[in-house]
Amino acid sequence: MTTTTTSNSALEVRNPSDGQLVGTVSVDDRDAVNRRATQLRLAQRAWAEAGPRQRSKWLRLWRDWILTHSDELTDLLQAETGKVRPDALVETTASCEFITYYADHAEEFLADERVKTAGLLSLPKRLSKTYQPYPLVGLITPWNFPITLFLMDAAPALAAGCAVLAKPSEETPLTCARVIDGWREIGAPPVLAHVTGAGDTGAAVVDAADFVQFTGSTATGRQVALRCAEQLKPVSLELGGKDPAIVLEDADLARAVEGVAWGGLFNAGQVCISVERVYVVAAVYEEFVARLTQRVQSLTQGADAGNDVGAMVTARQVDIADRHVSEAVAAGAKVVAGGKRGAAGNYYTPTVLVDVDHTMSCMTEETFGPTIPVMCVADEEEAIRLANDSTYGLSATVWTRDRARARRVARRLEVGAVNINDVFSNLFAMTLPHSGWKASGMGARLGGADGLHKYCRVRAVTEPRLPVRARELTWYPYSAWRTAIAAKMLRAAAGRGLSQRLGQNKEHRR
Ligand code: NDP
Repeated sequence: MTTTTTSNSALEVRNPSDGQLVGTVSVDDRDAVNRRATQLRLAQRAWAEAGPRQRSKWLRLWRDWILTHSDELTDLLQAETGKVRPDALVETTASCEFITYYADHAEEFLADERVKTAGLLSLPKRLSKTYQPYPLVGLITPWNFPITLFLMDAAPALAAGCAVLAKPSEETPLTCARVIDGWREIGAPPVLAHVTGAGDTGAAVVDAADFVQFTGSTATGRQVALRCAEQLKPVSLELGGKDPAIVLEDADLARAVEGVAWGGLFNAGQVCISVERVYVVAAVYEEFVARLTQRVQSLTQGADAGNDVGAMVTARQVDIADRHVSEAVAAGAKVVAGGKRGAAGNYYTPTVLVDVDHTMSCMTEETFGPTIPVMCVADEEEAIRLANDSTYGLSATVWTRDRARARRVARRLEVGAVNINDVFSNLFAMTLPHSGWKASGMGARLGGADGLHKYCRVRAVTEPRLPVRARELTWYPYSAWRTAIAAKMLRAAAGRGLSQRLGQNKEHRR
């Protein structure tokens, strides 16, 4: 969409494909954010005390509401984002799996955990961990997946027992707001709400929350991290990317071409883990480019049903894609498919660029658009070196028929996820962590129990295992003989590791 501020207190949301008005939302100022935060905190206590089983009941009812309303939600999502139907449908259906997964596992993941002792001093203790939810989670999301990126974190946070204050992007606030209406419509406790507005509203949410989950650009993520650092507030950042695809000479080329085309153009390329640059080994480069060009040229673009590639959410993003293509062409690259703005609306034609290198912005900056720059490399070694030559480290794909080789390459890539002979498959793998390396993020989301524990403070609890006496050996008053005995015992216990290591060293020397 394209938003226009109509006054200090309202934003118009327009359809990116034709500029039609879709809706209007308020601009919530700091006071409004704080009021909403206070109400959520009040309700959160009972929510936490209700326990995971009761919370899961509400989460499942909410999921059912979303699925029952998926046609309405998909229409609205298409209108505010310009997505084609299949791209929008993933958000309003498959994303409910995040709710199901955390509803099904909350009780198990939140149970108190017994922990084994280690070391002499903790030996006589019974150790355990208990999880206490952060009272208020601030959830700040971008415009490319207004529902998926919201549910990915709202589901585990609510399941953990937190209240959630969401701040969707000013560009696409409507569908997220409607999904949150659903929470109210099922009569769930008032622990989920949203505020609307731009960066100032987001900054107020950061200040109001106890834990901040931010998804968005690296530039804004850095500002959010600084703000949280000042307040010593925990924050998790899912940021931008420039994901490489590596196509080796033994790849199944038909699959690699289809995967790279879809991975680069799905959602008009506005996916944090889009294929943003491709390195193809010389032996198969010509054939790969010919097939990819053919596939990309065959795709249709538009808002009507049956089209493959939709509009881009913002005109600003079209400008970025256009700049990357024209800068590359000016530096010697060739457009073999697309490379043009659409006649109307926020469209950019699906594009393939060749003769590109790392002096060009299309290979180094996040484009976040429907462009696929392809570079010829000598071999696997050069592909890995160039793939790692980036400030980002979100994810990557590797295409080869040799599984062992694929795993070997994957281990050398400086990224948070590698999909072998596939794209995006880590996205809905809820038992895997999603984390960006380098400038792509800090912390992680999902990842089974970790995805829920991240929304909790962990409390360590110790209890004496044996009946207690008035005082422990290590307590006051100190005496010379007890200190001497304690020193012997501690040295013996601590040195066990040392003597084992010395033994190992002797083995090595033999
Ligand atoms: P932005 O960083 O511009 O905005 C993200 C969110 O932060 C929006 O809701 C925005 O509000 C809000 N915001 C802006 N300023 C502040 C502030 N000072 N304090 C708090 N919140 C603020 O990102 P985009 O919306 O442009 O999203 C695209 C980016 O998101 C890309 O870089 C993409 O790679 C990344 N992304 C990362 C993902 C991941 O999982 N790693 C997934 C999806 C996207 P408003 O929009 O209203 O200004």
